Amino acid sequence: MSFTETGRPPKDGFERDLVEVAALNLPKATPTLLNSLNKAALSQKPEETLLDLDLDELTTLIKELGQPTFRAKQVWGWLYQNFADAYAEMNNLPNSLLEKLSAQVPLAPLEVVTEKVAYDGQTRKALFRLSGGAEIETVLMLYADRATVCVSTQAGCAMACSFCATGQLGLTRNLQPGEIVQQVLHFERFLSRTTDPRLTLGHKRITNLVFMGMGEPLANYLNLWKAIRRFHDPQSLNLGARKMTVSTVGLPQMIRRFAQEDLPINLAISLHAANDTLRGSMMPINHRFPIAMLLEACREYISRTNRRLSFEYTLVREVNDSPAAARELAMLLRGMLCHVNLIPMNPVPGSSQQGSDLSRVRAFQAELERFGIPNSVRSEKGRDIQAACGQLKVEYNLS
Ligand code: SF4
Repeated sequence: MSFTETGRPPKDGFERDLVEVAALNLPKATPTLLNSLNKAALSQKPEETLLDLDLDELTTLIKELGQPTFRAKQVWGWLYQNFADAYAEMNNLPNSLLEKLSAQVPLAPLEVVTEKVAYDGQTRKALFRLSGGAEIETVLMLYADRATVCVSTQAGCAMACSFCATGQLGLTRNLQPGEIVQQVLHFERFLSRTTDPRLTLGHKRITNLVFMGMGEPLANYLNLWKAIRRFHDPQSLNLGARKMTVSTVGLPQMIRRFAQEDLPINLAISLHAANDTLRGSMMPINHRFPIAMLLEACREYISRTNRRLSFEYTLVREVNDSPAAARELAMLLRGMLCHVNLIPMNPVPGSSQQGSDLSRVRAFQAELERFGIPNSVRSEKGRDIQAACGQLKVEYNLS
């Protein structure tokens, strides 16, 4: 039996599921060493910051400090309308309050280690250092009709997918809600303050979020949802639920839980192969949750929510990109309310695997269409700045 952080045996249901996903750790090393590393990583909980608080929590704190509650709204406005990243910017609040707040809940912006812009100027990738030294990365992708941020939810990742640079790093720790929120505020600040439209494509605000950066979002479920609610809150960023997409390796118990949430956030499943042998070789999580188990949870999700699921399929040359693999995928998904996103793999430094070329992508797509499976090819952004998850960090550490 596994135990919660408090040493108590977990309750049934959701609490037990949370303990189970927190214990998942799949990199190839000795299990004993990994288990102790994983526990140590997850126990590194940083001190609470201002951005960890929702508006009710901030209001309670302001009241405890003997201040009128309207001060909480003022602080909130500085954070989520003006994108202030220092208490010193909040110039309509009393210094005495700012000093007390700063002592209790610091507003520590993420330290920018490096920030790179793709040659076309439309992709901007930041490597941030967290308190405690862990590093994460976040990408802003600009399109004519939207400005999307790809958000990280963990420092590193325990899932060890073979085609992913982050998977080579192992898990360092879960991000706190404020650390997830800060990544988006960093780029909100950039867009709102940059006057040169060549750098912003004219966007003043973030319009979409994808939780596809470092980490497995559903393995940090509670902090993920606290951040999602903040992004959705009309008094903060006011992002529509359908403007946010969470991508998961496919943890069945968390997919079922996701289906019960009140906000209709989009869900994308990283599938990448249509049989257990191939998927297991690409995604070690498949040994724990084989495809049949995963698809059972997916079908339950669709029937409960009546929402379309996305399946992500990274095309790796001569690994999973043959017409036969496309037919197998079509058979697997036939009849499901779903859409397949085909993603030619970005090159991963130090890996011999390569992305599929255009002719193989088109042949794969043609097979899916022959069987009536809705699909699209995701346009690649930022290949020249290593915009696949984990790649900037890998490159920076190697250089
Ligand atoms: S693809 Fe996602 S889940 Fe898999 S190792 Fe990379 S970050 Fe983790």
